[in-house]
Amino acid sequence: MRRVLLVNALPLALLLAALLYLDQYQNGLLENEVAALREQARVYAGALAQSAVRVDGKQVVLIPALARPLLWRLTEPTPDAQARLYGPDGTVIADSALGLASNGGADRREHLPPGTRRGPLLAAIDWLYDRAQALLPHPSPSSIDLEHGGAGADWQPNVKGELKLSSADRSREMPPYIRRTERNRLLVTVAEPVQRDKQTVGIILLTREAREVDSALFAIRMSILGLFALALVLTVLLSWYLSLTITRPILRLAGAAAEMREGEGRTGSVPRSLLVRHDEIGALAEALADSAVALWHRMDAIERFAADVAHEIKNPLSSIRSAIDTLRRIEDPARRQQLLSIMAEDVTRLDRLISDVSDASRVDAELSRAVTERVDLASMLRTLKEMQDATRAEHDPRIELVVPEEGLFVRGVEDRLVQVFRNLIGNAESFSPPGGRITVRGAVIGKMAEIIVEDEGPGIPDGKLEQIFDRFYSERPREEQFGQHSGLGLAISRQIVDALHGQITAENRRDPAGAVLGARFVVRLPAG
Ligand code: ADP
Repeated sequence: MRRVLLVNALPLALLLAALLYLDQYQNGLLENEVAALREQARVYAGALAQSAVRVDGKQVVLIPALARPLLWRLTEPTPDAQARLYGPDGTVIADSALGLASNGGADRREHLPPGTRRGPLLAAIDWLYDRAQALLPHPSPSSIDLEHGGAGADWQPNVKGELKLSSADRSREMPPYIRRTERNRLLVTVAEPVQRDKQTVGIILLTREAREVDSALFAIRMSILGLFALALVLTVLLSWYLSLTITRPILRLAGAAAEMREGEGRTGSVPRSLLVRHDEIGALAEALADSAVALWHRMDAIERFAADVAHEIKNPLSSIRSAIDTLRRIEDPARRQQLLSIMAEDVTRLDRLISDVSDASRVDAELSRAVTERVDLASMLRTLKEMQDATRAEHDPRIELVVPEEGLFVRGVEDRLVQVFRNLIGNAESFSPPGGRITVRGAVIGKMAEIIVEDEGPGIPDGKLEQIFDRFYSERPREEQFGQHSGLGLAISRQIVDALHGQITAENRRDPAGAVLGARFVVRLPAG
């Protein structure tokens, strides 16, 4: 929430900064003000130079008695301006604020209108603005320096210095003087020399309060502030909305995940309201829920497997226990020998069971890590056949292999594929009648390599075509060597083939009349 708000507020902060950089605009306004005031001062200076001097040969002298009423009259139409006339020696000759006579008369000082009055709120905003602006760096030093406070209203120009300069360089202008009084009034003062026949006889100082500058700036500031406030409200609302629709749901998901981690059993599921959303949050919620379900399935499978293993181990163990009990009671050496051989078989069975179990539990993890490679099933099956041929007794079944000469390539893990086909061929051998034939055929069909293992045995009992792939499912004739079959062979084979993105299925071979001719196992693997 905080971050969202921060990111959203950033543009606003920029806007605010821009507002505070209104300096440039203010300078432009002030320059206009100065230009107008200077024009006025020039008119005054011209009038004074014409009518209030006495030309005495080469000497030009300003006559105060003439200058005072003239200045009074000149300033009358603009009461908000104050004009002051200085003599060449720096003394004040006339001051429009003091009236006609310097010894009293009507004091027009009160005519300088008071500073702009504003309501307390606006004044506070203005004050804040000024403080904020004082904190900001001012990047471009302007040609106009605004002095804050401090400077008194009675600024005196350096008249003598100015006189010297203006006689030396007539084109030069005295810089304007702009200051803000303690009562927050912006005063602009310009000085112009009063010249007659290229002689400077005095300096006229014209001061006016630049109220328009302030009020124009203030109006702009207010409208930007209004916009800013509106944008701020929108930003807060937007952030709030974003936090409601994004941040909070994510927190709820995190909460659900934490509950799943800490809770026992299947507590803490993803809230339904999040699952039905059709956006990224919905997708995330769904993914979380799905992975939780997948994990639970896996845990269930592990639990079931552990229970199955315990159950399977119990049988040979109880058989061993009862054999030991009986062994203690009987004396007959033949019987005892028999019991001992039963115990030995049980131990073999346990041994076989445990190695199969550890194999089964390893297969998944191992296959998820293993990198698949290109495996030639044709040569692998040929090797299996050669091994069988080498160890084959007279009445043992024969393997007939039909695979493409150029090889039969799949993507897989060689050792595990050997395990699958050894298991299928082993089962076929054990179910084959004496001298029976086992046919192994391989071919590429579309994108898959298909390998079929057929035998001439009794086939698979009806309705058990899927069940035989279950763990610990083993259904064999009694006389078969006890303890050799854990019922994990096909289950492991299916696990391997599934992990390699293939399929393994079982069916019965039948003749046209429907009689079972034997079993058929079909393995399909992605051709490589
Ligand atoms: P196991 O070989 O230890 O019994 P498997 O998982 O390899 O375990 O086989 C499970 C069961 O499937 C066997 O006990 C048997 O009943 C049945 N089965 C497997 N192969 C054949 C086959 N070729 N013909 C008939 N039944 C078979």
